[in-house]
Amino acid sequence: MKRKVDRECRVFNKLWELKYFFAKDELKQKAYCLICHEHLSVMKEYNIRRHYETNHAPIYSKYTGKLREDKVESLKRTLQIQQGLIKKNFENNENVTRAGYEITKIISQHGKPFSDGMYIKNCIIEAVNCLCPLNSSLFDGISLSASSVSRRTEELGKNIFTNCEKTSNMLWYSLALDESVDISGTSQLLIFIRGVDENISITEELASVCSIHGTTTGKDILGH
Ligand SMILES: [Zn+2]
Repeated sequence: MKRKVDRECRVFNKLWELKYFFAKDELKQKAYCLICHEHLSVMKEYNIRRHYETNHAPIYSKYTGKLREDKVESLKRTLQIQQGLIKKNFENNENVTRAGYEITKIISQHGKPFSDGMYIKNCIIEAVNCLCPLNSSLFDGISLSASSVSRRTEELGKNIFTNCEKTSNMLWYSLALDESVDISGTSQLLIFIRGVDENISITEELASVCSIHGTTTGKDILGH
């Protein structure tokens, strides 16, 4: 029985826009009354018609023909603008979380205490207040407390461990080498591994980093 209701919920008839001033809220997957902003979870014509006739027909039945089309279009545009803002907010939240992870990665890579997150955040906020104060609330949302940095470091560590497990299950693999210079001026040889396991699932990962002192010719690299 539940399955039946679920299926009925998904089908929205475009004609209901003009007939009952209803549109489909794509974010909530529900029928949305363009006039009073109420959501109906069951997309059945009976429920939608009843809502319109009880609440809005006395006033809105006077809109006919082109006038009715224009009215529906203008109400739909308002809905689209609102939904665009919600979507943007959602994307911003994702980016704020990502920023938290990227900064945690830098803290870990430099072997700094987890509690450094707070002073890094203070630096960011000061810079943002000088350069783009209108965006300060966005940056303020980056969580860099010691407990957040500690939790994220653990998660990043687990992720590396999982990827290491994947590389040990590879049936075929290839290596790619790249060279980079660290802050002390020492050449670092980066070894990337890319391979497939028995399920043809492809994994690419940084496998190792070796410091190369002296020259960095092909022969030196092979020696490592
Ligand atoms: Zn309504």
